[in-house]
Amino acid sequence: MVQRLAAGGVSDPQVLAALGAVERHRFVDSALVNQAYEDTSLPIGLAQTISKPSVVARMIELLRNGAAGPLGRVLEIGTGCGYQAAVLSHVAREVYSIERLRGLHDKARENLRPLRLPNVHLLLGDGMLGYARGAPYAAIIAAAGGEAIPAAWTDQLAVGGRIVAPMVTASGTQALVVVERTERGLVQKLLEAVHFVPLKSGIA
Ligand code: SAH
Repeated sequence: MVQRLAAGGVSDPQVLAALGAVERHRFVDSALVNQAYEDTSLPIGLAQTISKPSVVARMIELLRNGAAGPLGRVLEIGTGCGYQAAVLSHVAREVYSIERLRGLHDKARENLRPLRLPNVHLLLGDGMLGYARGAPYAAIIAAAGGEAIPAAWTDQLAVGGRIVAPMVTASGTQALVVVERTERGLVQKLLEAVHFVPLKSGIA
């Protein structure tokens, strides 16, 4: 899988190493294990999906932006099955990951327990509000897309930090967005089209 990602254009060695360090088959149902290393999103229950490895790699590469060392504190919105949180734990000092669905929050906890990743903190809550107690963040990554980037995310971003998230654009389709907090304010860039589950408010 990692070789295919590299051939597909992922060049950040730390991102490739992080994806190589996490066994994706541990995060999907036993019936899907034979597809775990294909570049495809897969169902994880409650109408949600684990993202495609190439999209996970692309987003983390954008988050790291070629940094030499690890990122500081990272906030992930949408823990899902916990796969991306595990990958992030290899490129960040601390990972705070929020999930709004209790069933998936519990599943992620179970999936991550045997991996013993002391720098991953799983939270049940509405990620649209961010997680102020861990702020400011060096990076915020969302696995669900809304109509706009919530103000809480930009408020909780450190100067020099980056948000990478899917967002619904003017044409009604989703695209990847990068928001950077610079000394002079926020700078937003719209990138390629993507397909993520919707960002929803409240917990369930
Ligand atoms: N990174 C995950 C991908 C999960 S799909 C993985 O590796 O499996 C996106 C997840 O975002 C879903 O589980 C969905 O329930 C969650 N989500 C959507 N809106 C949310 C919100 N406001 N706060 C927290 N999680 C949210």
